[in-house]
Amino acid sequence: MAEHFTEQIVFNKPKIELHVHLDGAIRVETILDVARRRGITLPAGTVKEMTHICVVHQPATLTEFLGKFAEYMHVIAGDREAIKRIAYEFVEDKAKEGVIYVEVRYSPHFLANTDVEPIPWNQKEGDLSPDEVVCLVNQGLAEGEKAFNIIARSILCCMRHMPSWSKDVVELCKKYKKDGVVAIDLAGDESLNCEAYPGHRMAYEEAERCGVHRTVHAGEVGPASVVKEAVEVLKAERIGHGYNILEDQVLYKQLLEQNMHFEVCPISSKLTGACDPDFTKHPVITFRKDKANYSLNTDDPLIFNSTLHLDYSTAQNYMGFTEEEFKRLNINSANSSFLPEKEKKDLINKLYEAYGMVDGFVGSSSVLDGFLLGDGELRNGDRMLGHSGYNPLSHFIVF
Ligand SMILES: [Zn+2]
Repeated sequence: MAEHFTEQIVFNKPKIELHVHLDGAIRVETILDVARRRGITLPAGTVKEMTHICVVHQPATLTEFLGKFAEYMHVIAGDREAIKRIAYEFVEDKAKEGVIYVEVRYSPHFLANTDVEPIPWNQKEGDLSPDEVVCLVNQGLAEGEKAFNIIARSILCCMRHMPSWSKDVVELCKKYKKDGVVAIDLAGDESLNCEAYPGHRMAYEEAERCGVHRTVHAGEVGPASVVKEAVEVLKAERIGHGYNILEDQVLYKQLLEQNMHFEVCPISSKLTGACDPDFTKHPVITFRKDKANYSLNTDDPLIFNSTLHLDYSTAQNYMGFTEEEFKRLNINSANSSFLPEKEKKDLINKLYEAYGMVDGFVGSSSVLDGFLLGDGELRNGDRMLGHSGYNPLSHFIVF
């Protein structure tokens, strides 16, 4: 996939990324390095060979895709230095792509080797718990933030096939709310619904009760009914992927009205087999035409051998995206981030400035303050949109 290294940069401006997995975004060099240090033998010794093993080359099945994690997760899991290092390097890689705010997600259980049942990746029992994993990732992200001058927050994932872990996950979200953990997620095989696995529903109820934000992988490979369950039962504020929502036009229209945010991952959706490999038929084209609220994201750049630039250039080259749409979707993404309102406002302001959209109008933070907090000054045509309050786009940009 040499073309990834000569890819076009089509939107070389500050960006927001809301859907990317830490354990799907590790540098191959780091996997090799840690394996050497720990004396773990891998089937490949060079970056090129190891990349070939980790990467999905053609649209794959879910089993093939998940199998890729098994190629390297045992190297990183259970190792304190490695876990902190991948978090730090992740921030550096995102900064290089021009990302100024990222929400990175992971399952703390998948990186632990004690207090987790079953112990993943055939590891021997050790002394690294999911709780300490979260501390290490928080440290790595915080050091990365300082070094590379971007904001990195995290989302903790429940796994659909492991409902017994979900209670721990929500408790960790609560415990580390002040240390950069902003939300809970549910990932994995969508055919495992929450009626059959009430552990997830209970965790999400607790999240809502405690003010922990909620996103859910839904409608990626699964049908629109999974999106419905995510919204109605799990009270999701954002949907991971959500492509198959288009099968249920009633629900789709309802979510458009609510300004529901869809975390779209173009390259991922092709290589996981979630969407038609012909990008000109991608659901995000409908989202764009309908002025839906969505972000563009990498999902698992290690496994797709991709970067955020590739997702953007794909959107431009095959889906007709313009610079104006890139700006619009990034401002929408900032507005749908899980930051507290004040920090969200600052982030949106940063984008307006970087995009040259200040015009002496939104440059004044007091104007935007009033605007986001709803003090009654800028009310003409306002409408309440979803969980994130007023939508600044309705005032400043007309597309
Ligand atoms: Zn994902």
